Amino acid sequence: MSFRLANRAGQAVLLDGEDYWDLRIAPMEAFARLEDMHRQWDSRSAPDGQVSPAELGPPVPGPKQVFAYGLNYRDHIEEMDEVDYLGRTTNEAPVVFTKYPDCLVGPAAPVKLVGDNCDYECELVVAIGAETRNIEESQAWDRVAGLMIGQDISDRALQVAATPPQFNLGKSRESFGPTGPALVSPDLVDNPDDLAISCRINGELRQNSRTSYLIRPVAEIMAYLSSILTLHPGDLIFTGTPGGVGQALGLYLKPGDVILSEIEGLGALENTCV
Ligand code: ZN
Repeated sequence: MSFRLANRAGQAVLLDGEDYWDLRIAPMEAFARLEDMHRQWDSRSAPDGQVSPAELGPPVPGPKQVFAYGLNYRDHIEEMDEVDYLGRTTNEAPVVFTKYPDCLVGPAAPVKLVGDNCDYECELVVAIGAETRNIEESQAWDRVAGLMIGQDISDRALQVAATPPQFNLGKSRESFGPTGPALVSPDLVDNPDDLAISCRINGELRQNSRTSYLIRPVAEIMAYLSSILTLHPGDLIFTGTPGGVGQALGLYLKPGDVILSEIEGLGALENTCV
C-alpha cells in the first residue's frame, strides 16, 4: 500500500511535495482506512491545493500509545557513557520509555525550550497499521502503516531528576515531539531498514548515520513489544537516536537554534527553538 498521509488543520490529507488531497476525515480515522488511502493515492488527479510545512500538524496526532527506545545505536551508547560512566551495555533488556502523546507537534512547529539542558535526538518513527500481538519478526513489517521523522526532544535535567531516573516527563514537555512531515508507507522508500538519518543544528552536521545501525531493528522492536502487550493502529515507536547528541558534545539547544532533521525518503523537519 502506498500513501503519504499528513495533517492539515486537523484534517487528514494525502501529501505529494506541496500538493495535497483532502481525505475529509480526521487523521486518526485514516488508520481504519489504509486500503482506501492507498486507492486514493493511486488515483489522485488535480490536487485540492498546496500546503506549506508550517501549516502541517503531526501526521499522527492522537496515538493510543507512544513507545521510545533508548540507547539503540552503538555510537550513542558510547558517547552517553563518556558523560557519566554508568556502564551502559547492549545485551540487557531494551531501555523503553514513553513520550506522552500531548508533546507531538508538526514538522515546522517551534520547540519551546525550558532551562539550559534541552537536547535534540533525530529518530526514525514507526506507526503501527494493524492490531499486533505476539508476532514473529518476519510478520512485523506487514503491520507497519508508515514511517516518519521524529525529534525526541529531551530535557536532560528533568530526565534524570528522579532516582531511579524516569525519562517520560523529561521527554514530554510541550512541543517536545516534532513529527512528520508525512507518514510514508514503507514501500515508498528504497529499503526501510537502511535509511540515511541526520540532524543539523544551525546548518552544522551533528548526527549522521543509517537506520541499518539500529541495534534492535524495527522488526525486533515490534516482536518484543507485542510479546508484552497489544500494539494498536496508530501507535508510534520512536526507534532511538544515533550518536552526536548535544549532551555528549556539551552543546545544548539555545533559543533561536534551528534543528533540521532528515531521513532519506521521508523529507525533513525544521524546528526553531524559542
Ligand atoms: Zn530518543
